[in-house]
Amino acid sequence: MDKVKVAINGYGTIGKRVADAVSLQDDMEIIGVSKTRPNFEAKLASKRGFSLYVPEDRIPAFEEAELEVAGTIEDMCREADVVVDATPGGIGVQYKELYERSGCKAIWQGGEKHDVAGFSFNALSNYDGALGRKFVRVVSCNTTALCRLLYLLDKEYGVKKVRAVLMRRGADPGDSKSGPINAIIPNPITLPSHHGPDVKTVLPHINITTLAAKLSTTLMHMHTLNVELSSPPASDDVRDMLSKEPRIFLATSDLKSTAELVEFARDADRPRYDIWENIVWSDSITVEDGELYLFMAVHQEAIVIPENVDAIRAMFELSDKEGSMKKTNESMGIGKLG
Ligand code: NAD
Repeated sequence: MDKVKVAINGYGTIGKRVADAVSLQDDMEIIGVSKTRPNFEAKLASKRGFSLYVPEDRIPAFEEAELEVAGTIEDMCREADVVVDATPGGIGVQYKELYERSGCKAIWQGGEKHDVAGFSFNALSNYDGALGRKFVRVVSCNTTALCRLLYLLDKEYGVKKVRAVLMRRGADPGDSKSGPINAIIPNPITLPSHHGPDVKTVLPHINITTLAAKLSTTLMHMHTLNVELSSPPASDDVRDMLSKEPRIFLATSDLKSTAELVEFARDADRPRYDIWENIVWSDSITVEDGELYLFMAVHQEAIVIPENVDAIRAMFELSDKEGSMKKTNESMGIGKLG
């Protein structure tokens, strides 16, 4: 089969990272990205060599900014085998009719509801369920991190009950409109936060309750987890088991905070300091009275990127789960942070 032709609708935080990750693969290629405004990200896309597709009524604005336009978003969808929709939550669903009409497959992100695709994806947890599918939703950053970890724990030790507290970043670093600047906001105040039910769209049998709060930080999320296990192992067994999974990084205690993790990723020459792995602090892993406790950090801008690449491979049946994840990991350098 020729390379899968991938288009990105919504070239923002997630879209531009997916475009770069797809460009690293030898079995898929970017045929274009959409932009609604001729801003700095449109210029970046053009500099990276990606064809720009824009809403018809915006073509003059792009021409005025001396940005070459390859066609409309409708044209892009007709030319693509699959569109990765990375538009803001709630916008992606409005494009479903266009994707259907254009005959392309589509992948939505976690800001859309499960129903948009009828299948929510996490590579480790349910790759096989996406084989040959037309529509898939890659779950959000927090849900991706929880699914990776809980899938592995459940497989090895059986998960009886999960209690998770999610301390969420208030905004992405490039977002100057959101907050809070000086507050911690229970979000929502009532239980559960949407993350527990979202985990169940991927792993329906996992018994999980989540609470969430928004904090005055942009760098990463932080989870505290408490997991009751059917066959509780020793703490070191959990460390050994997690250390074998490239998409999980066991951090040493000299990395004291999300700030130091970001610096660590910068020193490792990660593009945009992206951390694609779940960060689990090794010394926090504690099994006590049959229950596992740990701290886990999640880089919201990066963690879902490899999942989008694997979702494409599954939808076009280009590889089995192990083959796809290995290819994605090796091409991006996942599992080589330390
Ligand atoms: P973003 O705002 O950074 O980027 C969205 C892009 O879509 C922007 O370039 C915007 O100009 C463009 N856009 C807006 N309206 C459009 C339209 N009608 N047609 C085409 N393009 C349009 O958003 P993001 O953070 O990249 O989020 C995208 C999706 O990924 C959402 O579903 C979000 O929930 C999900 N997600 C975000 C994060 C994160 O932390 N940023 C993490 C995981 C998943």
